[in-house]
Amino acid sequence: VKRLNSLSKTDTLTGIANRLSFQEMLAAGISSAARHNRKLALLYIDLDKFKDVNDSLGHGFGDQVLYQVARRLAEVIRTEDLVARLGGDEFALLLNDIVDPMSASAVAEKVLRALSAPFEYQSNQVTVSASLGIAIGDGRMSASRTFEAADMAMYEAKKRGRNQYCYFDGNM
Ligand code: GH3
Ligand code: MG
Repeated sequence: VKRLNSLSKTDTLTGIANRLSFQEMLAAGISSAARHNRKLALLYIDLDKFKDVNDSLGHGFGDQVLYQVARRLAEVIRTEDLVARLGGDEFALLLNDIVDPMSASAVAEKVLRALSAPFEYQSNQVTVSASLGIAIGDGRMSASRTFEAADMAMYEAKKRGRNQYCYFDGNM
């Protein structure tokens, strides 16, 4: 039963948390933030032009890149934070208890830098970038609204030219 439970919360390709697990942790984080008057940050990450990687080097190579992206993201975060693969080429980070909303941009910059090094597999290599959306949760917005906000901000980062991060703002 324990193994089943852990499988249902794990992304099979990368071994990190899956979307379901992320949404559960986000909901828990939001209610904890509300109770303790703290803030958290959700970083929504979508790889740029990832279809091109599959098209030029094959789906197997693409899978390897996704696996390595998960490893690099895990290295960027603190132990109390969470990294998940939401599906496809989408990942998310949950930064619990951030002191200053702007500290999420330091993490976003680390992510962009960590992904900028080429990915290698079977003597091929490829460079990929990502677009990030950041939403700050403070207990006033539901988990699902916070998730949507980060997704919208990620699309804004794509629109602005990709390989960058963007904070959610109410005008989106
Ligand atoms: P954009 O910059 O707009 O994000 O362009 P994109 O090509 O990355 O487009 P999008 O994010 O919409 O599509 C993600 C692509 O990722 C679609 C598919 O080719 C690829 N993909 C999704 N899941 C997997 C997977 O499990 N393995 C591999 N190798 N590729 C995947
Ligand atoms: Mg993409």
